[in-house]
Amino acid sequence: MANMNKIAVLTSGGDSPGMNAAIRAVARTCMFNDKECVGVMRGYEGLIDGDFVTLDRAAVGGIIHRGGTILRTARSDRFKTPEGREQAVAKMREAGIDGLVVIGGDGSFHGAKALHEMGFPTVGIPGTIDNDITGTDETIGFDTAVNTALQAIMKLRDTASSHERLFIVEVMGRNAGFLALEVAVASGAEYAVVPELPLSIGNLCKLLRNSHDEHRSHTLIILAEGVMPASEMRDKLQDTGGYDARVTVLGYIQRGGAPTSFDVVLATRMGAFATEGLLIGKSGVMVGNINHKLVFSDLERAWSEHKSLSPELLSLINKMN
Ligand code: ADP
Repeated sequence: MANMNKIAVLTSGGDSPGMNAAIRAVARTCMFNDKECVGVMRGYEGLIDGDFVTLDRAAVGGIIHRGGTILRTARSDRFKTPEGREQAVAKMREAGIDGLVVIGGDGSFHGAKALHEMGFPTVGIPGTIDNDITGTDETIGFDTAVNTALQAIMKLRDTASSHERLFIVEVMGRNAGFLALEVAVASGAEYAVVPELPLSIGNLCKLLRNSHDEHRSHTLIILAEGVMPASEMRDKLQDTGGYDARVTVLGYIQRGGAPTSFDVVLATRMGAFATEGLLIGKSGVMVGNINHKLVFSDLERAWSEHKSLSPELLSLINKMN
């Protein structure tokens, strides 16, 4: 195993709250082990350009509770080409970098895996609000996004019940329903409509009819963005069942804000674990939190294995309805 003296860290893909805490943990763990740490600006774009900054103690001071990422993030088409990746490795070698920590989602992990296969030691940390990564129970940012959505929905509920209205709240999550399901349980919503469990508009109208018959003060549907846009669902409910629903799309506010204590602790644990892993020769793996214990699993699992929604949470929506 090559001697590991200098470790780089980058954030890539969509940002998520807690990424800064992970960057800080990587840098501080390097210092603890008398190693150097550099940050890479703008994800793989900065890697190709050799855009590195020194991450000493001061550089990562005061960032633990800040949302976003101080290293910025970007999508990089150049990195998807062999030439781009070769230039990135050459820039790292030139700068004396021996190992890399990639904080991001499954797209970023494809890139991390490619670096590993080129013989460059690389370890991944799952950072996305979508929680759609196999190999970890939670990704960094998920808990914060759930809480942000919950805060917004609590305000909507006041209006929804005052006017006896039907509300559709669209939350993020890409093609997965983790965020929608968690938010639905946390907000006491009547229905969660997620990509993993298709619910026809006809069936939804039937269910709504029942809840209408029970004279509820209001009805809340949490819709995952991966199913359809909330405006489309509103139109379909109008056409099929004559319902007049109000629509709220939470959008990017779900990605911002200060991370919750859960995300800060998770990010700090994962940052330290990933760095220590690199130092003992790990590569081609990502850190996961499984049953409260940190483990490494092959990066490829992140996109090749399906991660299922919790059947327990799904059944809770019905039970609590
Ligand atoms: P996320 O990491 O949040 O899923 P993206 O899917 O946008 O975000 O991926 C982030 C970046 O990872 C891309 O812009 C690209 O540079 C890199 N990447 C994605 N897929 C690949 C791939 N197959 N090979 C190499 N790099 C990739």
